[in-house]
Amino acid sequence: MTYTYSQIPWLLCLILIALVFYLYLRLSQNTPVIKTNKLRKNMSAQEALDMLLQGNNEYIQSGTSEFDRKSVAHSQHPCAIILSCSDSRVSPELIFNQLHVGNLFIVRNAGNILDEMVLGSIEYGVKHLASPLIIVLGHDRCEAIKATVESVLENQIECSSHIKHIINIMKPTAQDIIDDMKIGTEISVETKNEIIKKTAFANIHRVMSKISQNSVIISQALQENKIKLVGAYYDLDHGNLRFID
Ligand SMILES: [Zn+2]
Repeated sequence: MTYTYSQIPWLLCLILIALVFYLYLRLSQNTPVIKTNKLRKNMSAQEALDMLLQGNNEYIQSGTSEFDRKSVAHSQHPCAIILSCSDSRVSPELIFNQLHVGNLFIVRNAGNILDEMVLGSIEYGVKHLASPLIIVLGHDRCEAIKATVESVLENQIECSSHIKHIINIMKPTAQDIIDDMKIGTEISVETKNEIIKKTAFANIHRVMSKISQNSVIISQALQENKIKLVGAYYDLDHGNLRFID
């Protein structure tokens, strides 16, 4: 098949359009869906679900994830057990840059608090998965701790019995901090923020103590130096961690 000189520009145009269309398809398939905080605020449930399903498709198509999945499909040996807050800004996989399945055994709840269920999960990680490290991960500007401090300072009553359960667990810690600071009746925003920060640190310490005191499995493993228990405080602005022994 031969083309005349007058047909060549049209042919080049068609090739160019086809190339642009092909690149558009490839990019739209491979570009991760990233929504800004502002866009997420106005997202419908269906939009959120669609975004997550697209994310799952991208995950499945990724060559690395297939290798990861196969390597841990029938057994797991996570290098650390992490008790962290449910806060969407405090994802252990991202903070510790451990983006492979099987690396971390994570227990999350609002305020990184400890109850029987949480302790049982941590014990499982130590006893059955042989994880050598437990990290209790708290963070600044924690909403759960803020709610607890406000319930002590301002006597705010939480209507939900389930949220009240979380607050009641942390209340003695917040009360101790407030008593130690000997504050007056007028509390500035700065003082309140200081109370929240100190309560977050004290909460990490208290949870660490309870883990070792309330679990025979964990206290024995600690005594035998089979595991290590540390606390960490995460800075939302800078992304760095302050470790607490
Ligand atoms: Zn939090």
